[in-house]
Amino acid sequence: MSHLMNTYGRLPVAFSHGEGSWLFDLSGKRYLDALSGIAVSTLGHNHPRLVRAIAEQASRVIHTSNLYGIPLQEALSDRLAELSAMDEVFFCNSGCEANEAAIKLARLYGYKRGIAEPVIIVMEHSFHGRTLATLSATGNKKVQIGFEPLVGGFLRVPFDDLAAVERSLEGRADVVGILLEPVQGEGGIHVAQQAYLKALRTLCDERELLLMFDEVQCGVGRTGKWFGHQNADIKPDVMSLAKGLGSGVPIGACLAAGRAAGVFQPGNHGSTFGGNPLACAAALTTLSVIDEEGLLENAERIGRIICSGLSKALEGVPGVLDIRSAGLMIGIELDRPCGALVAQALEAGYLINVTADKVVRLLPSLNFSEGEATALVDGLVPLIKGFLAAQ
Ligand SMILES: *Cc1c(COP(=O)(O)O)cnc(C)c1O
Repeated sequence: MSHLMNTYGRLPVAFSHGEGSWLFDLSGKRYLDALSGIAVSTLGHNHPRLVRAIAEQASRVIHTSNLYGIPLQEALSDRLAELSAMDEVFFCNSGCEANEAAIKLARLYGYKRGIAEPVIIVMEHSFHGRTLATLSATGNKKVQIGFEPLVGGFLRVPFDDLAAVERSLEGRADVVGILLEPVQGEGGIHVAQQAYLKALRTLCDERELLLMFDEVQCGVGRTGKWFGHQNADIKPDVMSLAKGLGSGVPIGACLAAGRAAGVFQPGNHGSTFGGNPLACAAALTTLSVIDEEGLLENAERIGRIICSGLSKALEGVPGVLDIRSAGLMIGIELDRPCGALVAQALEAGYLINVTADKVVRLLPSLNFSEGEATALVDGLVPLIKGFLAAQ
C-alpha cells in the first residue's frame, strides 16, 4: 500500500516505456494507445525530436521564473499567435489554470466596464477543470457535489442551442462572456454545429461579449485543424489550451484577441512555473513536428478511417446509439453504462476510455498510422459487440 491520496480509480496496469502509439507494461506486454494520456501525447510516445528538444533544453536551463525575460516563451507566443490569429498569450501549467485565467480575464473585462458582478454563460455537460472556479463552470454535478459553496457568476444553458443563449441574455446587462468547448470532450464528444458557433460570434460582437473557447482538449491539431473553432471559420476573443500543447510536458495557455487583449496588466495574474523554458521548448517542438510531419491532415484522415470503420462494423448493432467525431476525437455512444469495456480492452491490449457513462472515447496521437487505425477498429468492434450481447 502506498501513501497516495485516494483521488483516482486506477486500472491495474503500469507502464515502463512507450514507442510511437504503443505502451509497454512492466511485464513487457504491449498496448495500442488510443487515449494518448487523455489527448496529451500529441506526438505519441518517445518521439525522437521531442526527446532531443527536451534533453537539450534541460541541459541548458529548465526554469528561471517570470521575473525575467524568457525568449522561448516569446517565441512560443509568436507561433501560437501566428497559428490562431490571436493577439496575446499567458502561459500556465494546465487546463484548469488556463480556464481560471480566462474567467479572471472576463471578470476584469466586466469590471473595467463598470459591471460589479459579471456573469459568464456556460454550457450543460461541459468540463472546464477541478479548481473551484472551473468546477463551478463545469456542467456536471458529480464534479461539484461536496464542494459547495460554488463560485458564483455562471449562468448555464443547453449546449449547441442558440435560442437558449438568446433567452438567457434577455433583460440583463451583467453578462460579459460565453465559455464553451467547440467539441465537448468529457461530456461525450459532442461537436458544436458550425452555424451555432458562427451565430455566437455574431451575437458576442453585437453585445461586446467575450466569446471564450475552452480548447484544452480539442485544440492543438486534434480535430484536424490547429484549433477546433477553425472548422467554423471564426475566431474567439479568448481561448484556453493545455493537454496536447507540450506532448506530455505540462503547459497551458490562455490566448486573447481584440477587445479581450490588453485587459490583464502587471499584477493582475501570474504563475511561478508558467511557460518555463523546458515546457516552452516541448511546446515549440510539438507545433513544429505537427507542421512538418503533416499531422493535421493525418488527424483528419485517420479520424475518418477509424470513424467509418466503426460505423460500418457497428451499424445497426442493437445498443449502439451514435458514433460522433471531429478528427481524432471519437465517441461511440451506447445505450447503457459501459465503463467495464475499459478493463476488457486493456486485457485485449487496447487503451481506451469511457466518458459520460455510456460513451467509448478514443483520442489517439496525431501520428497514429493507418495500420494502427485498422488494428484499433478490428480490436474494438468484437469487444463492443461482445459487451452488448452479454448484457
Ligand atoms: C482536461 C480538460 C480541462 C482540465 O485540464 P487540467 O489540465 O486537468 O486542469 C479543462 N477543459 C477541458 C475541455 C478539458 O478537456
